[in-house]
Amino acid sequence: DGITLEKVREYVWEVPQEGDMRTPARVLASEALLEEIKEDKTLEQIKNTTHLPGITNHAICMPDGHQGYGFPVGGVGALDAENGCISPGAVGYDINCGVRMMRTNLTYDDLQGREEELVDSLFANVPSGLGGGGIVKAGVDTVEEILERGVDWALENGHAVEEDLLHCEDEGVRTEADASKISQKAKDRGKNQIGSLGSGNHFLEVQRVTDVFDDAVGDAYGLEEDQIVVLIHCGSRGLGHQTCNDYLRKIEQQHQGLLNQLPDKELAAAPAGSQLAEDYYKAMNAAINFAWVNRQLIMHRTRQVFERVFDRSWEEMDMHLLYDVAHNIAKKETHAVGVGPEGRPVRDGDAVEHEERELYVHRKGATRAFPAGHPEVPKAYRDVGQPVIIPGSMGAGSYVLRGGENSMDLTFGSTAHGAGRLMSRTQAKNEYWGGDVQDELEQQEQIYVKAQSGATVAEEAPGVYKDVDEVVRVSDALGIGDKVARTFPVCNIKG
Ligand code: 5GP
Ligand code: MN
Ligand code: MN
Repeated sequence: DGITLEKVREYVWEVPQEGDMRTPARVLASEALLEEIKEDKTLEQIKNTTHLPGITNHAICMPDGHQGYGFPVGGVGALDAENGCISPGAVGYDINCGVRMMRTNLTYDDLQGREEELVDSLFANVPSGLGGGGIVKAGVDTVEEILERGVDWALENGHAVEEDLLHCEDEGVRTEADASKISQKAKDRGKNQIGSLGSGNHFLEVQRVTDVFDDAVGDAYGLEEDQIVVLIHCGSRGLGHQTCNDYLRKIEQQHQGLLNQLPDKELAAAPAGSQLAEDYYKAMNAAINFAWVNRQLIMHRTRQVFERVFDRSWEEMDMHLLYDVAHNIAKKETHAVGVGPEGRPVRDGDAVEHEERELYVHRKGATRAFPAGHPEVPKAYRDVGQPVIIPGSMGAGSYVLRGGENSMDLTFGSTAHGAGRLMSRTQAKNEYWGGDVQDELEQQEQIYVKAQSGATVAEEAPGVYKDVDEVVRVSDALGIGDKVARTFPVCNIKG
């Protein structure tokens, strides 16, 4: 409503700078996706974000963008780490929600006829839903260790092997974590949820690879057609949620001045260099570690389930982690920032100078997508670029991409994180009935879904999500994340 959008070039749209905006805002989308993006408050939110101090180049909405708390899901905001700020709402409530994909050497044939046994066994052995407990029963001491040590803790306690760490963003540990910055209440919530999927949008899905679009990169990732893979999507559970909440309230109390300058209270931010900015960053890193351990425990448990179902060791089935990538985080990263004439942001046609700057790169519902050659891409993938994992829905394809050549220039090394929601949960429950959705998936697509509640299945019905093929097409065309492979669901468990 009343927001001006100018087309910069194909798939790149800009909300021009005006009023108190510090930079323009950008939307990366096809015309079809843009129509969907216009349906909720996404444009207004991405525009509001440009009011944050230290916003660099532009606030950017990915092709899967939709309305979120203050900042859109599918948003990237790079805020100067010296003169800018950090904003919990631009990280998201589920700190380090993310996905990991595990390979196997099984084929779709090996699985056929055993889908029900597998889905039942996964459902029985991987805790899900509200209050389902966790894989590890422990006290607050253990939670604190996990918060500071991440997947190293899992390795030491027999829930991981060395190579798992090497195939995880940041090798599964953020060393700037400080458990003392997480509240007792958050730790108490966390202690019963160590190794648990949670509810709603989180899932564990057994998939088959239907297409490999790039053979060389497919080889490097160990993917081939007909292969069975496992996709795990979850985050930091109640611990992360509580942490986000704790810091939003503190920031609202202590940084009223900054808050009053912002068009939306939900964007509450702590100025870089303030005590609260430091504390939130340390707490967020700790919650990030917790989420990595969570996904690690679930993956390791999945290996054990496969061992029982297929009567072979997981090593024999080559159940190796392909990659784990976060999609709700902020990270201090150094980027070469283009500066236009007189220090203003670069526009097309400018003579560009570059300056190295430290930024808090906020990726909320956005995935890191570093290209080939970047030093933070794991060695095994350095020559081809980091794997980017994009789930679609329980009834549609999901994708593996690789970080694209243009991602550093266009999106601070980021791309989309999913298909993106089209419909609210309430709308979805009016539209769908869980049991019907389940029956249809099984009868028409041979997809076996098992969930703690029918409402969850309705809320997550394939029809509530946008077209993932279109999202990925735009990412690929822009060169921020290139298509490598597509998968399709076989079994899915949810909370
Ligand atoms: P979010 O983190 O925003 O909740 O979800 C990430 C993405 O996961 C969504 O945008 C959607 O495209 C995808 N997704 C949600 N449920 C499922 C599922 O059951 N299976 C798969 N493969 N993808 C899903
Ligand atoms: Mn989540
Ligand atoms: Mn997520």
